[in-house]
Amino acid sequence: MTKIQTPVIEIRDLHKAYGSLEVLKGISLSAMKGDVVSLIGSSGSGKSTLLRCCNLLEDSQQGDILFEGEPIKWTGTGLNRHPSDKEQLIKVRTNLSMVFQQFNLWAHMSILQNVMEAPVTVLGRDKAEVEEAARGYLAKVGIGDKCDVYPAQLSGGQQQRAAIARALCMEPRALLFDEPTSALDPELEQEVVRVIKALAEEGRTMLIVTHDMKMAADVSDHTVFLHQGLIEEEGAPSDLFGNPKTERLQQFLSATVAA
Ligand code: ADP
Ligand code: MG
Repeated sequence: MTKIQTPVIEIRDLHKAYGSLEVLKGISLSAMKGDVVSLIGSSGSGKSTLLRCCNLLEDSQQGDILFEGEPIKWTGTGLNRHPSDKEQLIKVRTNLSMVFQQFNLWAHMSILQNVMEAPVTVLGRDKAEVEEAARGYLAKVGIGDKCDVYPAQLSGGQQQRAAIARALCMEPRALLFDEPTSALDPELEQEVVRVIKALAEEGRTMLIVTHDMKMAADVSDHTVFLHQGLIEEEGAPSDLFGNPKTERLQQFLSATVAA
């Protein structure tokens, strides 16, 4: 029997503008369970906006977003379109955990408290169970000995790994990474890349915006090249990086390699 799979996250013909600035001009993409999709493109091409629309941190004006096959319910149209179902909004946000370029850890909380905060306060989970899970995730990303220190006492690479543990502790259906290594020195970048690779290998569903073409090529099943709010080219990373078809992608890749 053929099993019909439903994507964890799917967007169809998504449009998003900030006022009169059209940022996404009709984007469609989907990620099945276990898929790693990388998003590449020049600064300003709409990559962060796309991720933020996926987990409803930003509104969009047109098109559909489906979480595990369930379309987001909207109220209003155009610039007045907003998610109408608060429960659905929370479900989507908590199941698509985001990891940001600047880590966004709470400075006044220990690393363990940072990781425990949302599962306890947002999901209302049992504190002792969350603590055990949080310690496990911190160990998994290689900083199990840093539970009681504060973010300022960690290197950037350690802070970003703490942020990844925090995202994992939500037990999300997918992880969304927005340039997770861009704020890091090259030698710290690799420790975060290793964690992301390990997550890919264990079959996590992930959307990864990155400027790191090597990581994109190594970890993803599918790569999407965004240009001025549209998908200019997409496919297997071996094709996109090995045999780019459009002139824009060719130019982008040669500029990236030269940088
Ligand atoms: P990328 O992540 O690919 O660099 P972004 O999604 O951050 O691109 O930005 C796409 C475009 O949207 C840029 O022109 C940017 O200036 C604009 N933009 C992003 N966020 C906002 C905002 N909150 N308000 C107005 N314009 C924004
Ligand atoms: Mg961005």
